[in-house]
Amino acid sequence: AKASPRPTINPKLLTTILPIQSRNVAVIGAGAAGLVAARELRREGHKVVVLERENQIGGTWVYTNRIESDPLGLDPDRTVVHSSLYSSLRTNLPREVMGFLDYPFVTRDDGYRDPRRFPGHGEVLKYLKEFVSEFGIEEVVRFESEVVNVGLIENNKWRVRSKKKNNGYQYDDEIYDAVVVCNGHYTQPRIAEIPGINSWPGKQMHSHNYRVSEPFRDQVIILIGSAASAVDICRDLAGVAKEVHVACRSVADETYEKQPGYDNMWLHSMIERANKDGTVVFRNGNVVLADVILHCTGYKYHFPFLETNGVVTVDDNRVGPLYQHVFPPVLAPWLSFVGLPWKVIPFPLCELQSKWIAGVLSGRFVLPSQEEMMEDVKAFYSKLEASGMPKRYTHNMADYQFDYDNWLAEQCGHPNIEEWRVKMYSAVSKSKRVRPETYRDEWDDEDLVLQAQEDFVKYAS
Ligand code: FAD
Repeated sequence: AKASPRPTINPKLLTTILPIQSRNVAVIGAGAAGLVAARELRREGHKVVVLERENQIGGTWVYTNRIESDPLGLDPDRTVVHSSLYSSLRTNLPREVMGFLDYPFVTRDDGYRDPRRFPGHGEVLKYLKEFVSEFGIEEVVRFESEVVNVGLIENNKWRVRSKKKNNGYQYDDEIYDAVVVCNGHYTQPRIAEIPGINSWPGKQMHSHNYRVSEPFRDQVIILIGSAASAVDICRDLAGVAKEVHVACRSVADETYEKQPGYDNMWLHSMIERANKDGTVVFRNGNVVLADVILHCTGYKYHFPFLETNGVVTVDDNRVGPLYQHVFPPVLAPWLSFVGLPWKVIPFPLCELQSKWIAGVLSGRFVLPSQEEMMEDVKAFYSKLEASGMPKRYTHNMADYQFDYDNWLAEQCGHPNIEEWRVKMYSAVSKSKRVRPETYRDEWDDEDLVLQAQEDFVKYAS
């Protein structure tokens, strides 16, 4: 599934023939996506308000040791903790690749910073704070303002209702021309279905609520999953737990392997069932008496505030229909989403999506007709279906993120993603496979690091 080609628009030409319109735009969320959206919208001359539920910017990158009252994250009435970070987290992308295109994530070794190439999470938050201060974004962010409802009213405008903490709660209703949804998608847990789990007496939790390993000392843990968080957390746990058993969906049923370098960690195939005597049976036939099942099984898109009369739905984790993962054709360009794709480098992708949205809203870039956009979406879905891809992989861009980035860049008259970034991403992906334990501290793409640093000189102020 590749981003489909579209007639090229010459942004310079359009500037000369179309009036540039300034819109009132609400951005929901002040994470990386909302912050770069705010910057691009303001650069384009729009009036922007960023509504943020928490009391600071950064979204995912604001680490907290708080966890939710329901460790599985299923109770709809729980107080939501936004971030899913664990204390030991270091980035899984090198900083050169990860940063925004025109605001490089460079090392600032001033004693207070983490100069590593794959830094700890605190360094990313510092970088985002610098980004905010560099572009004066904070002045448009309203903190502790949770958006609770977004609905269409007459004249194609949006009514945005937000809840503000103020000696209790105060509700504000405001009218905007456009809404850009940037609420993140790593907060609402998805859990594995396990036959017999309701009578299993052990403790279950989702990685969303995992912070540190110490509470798991001397316990027997079954960890389900094999994506980035699972890979980190199982190693974190192996340092203190009695045993760690990793259940993985993508291996053969007979798989049962001791993990190299560990005498207390094993890789298994999926769980077959859980029993009321506390045992858990794997498809490989092994039976383990476990204390904890930790679901590192990913997250769901969740827009509890969005009321579109069924125009935009989430179906098996497909947010749709969306033209190029951004605009619902029927509501375009007045509603848009930034940051939905996964298995990508998020910051630059959000930056390009935001440039596109900003330019479309001002009238500088023109979208295809509603019908054409819908045809494009349908063709994309048919292609996914024909290749046997489940709906929940709709926004997985593992195979084509750079084609997509470049398609966006083309819409905006922006240069393509740098060659070194593409090569570095692929070098690091390979390095992760070859040395999963040490890829953050050992690498062999120093030539690309030098190229990136040379490139960054042009952004140094
Ligand atoms: P978020 O950062 O989640 O921000 C969303 C914001 O919206 C939050 O501030 C939230 O409070 C706010 N919000 C939500 N609902 C409302 C509402 N109703 N009203 C008002 N505000 C609301 N990316 C990388 O590039 N490198 C990495 O190494 C990396 N590691 C990761 C590790 C983990 C464990 C996770 C979970 C993600 C990781 N990511 C990584 C991806 C990361 O999510 C993105 O880098 C980026 O932070 C996404 O930004 P966002 O703005 O889309 O979402």
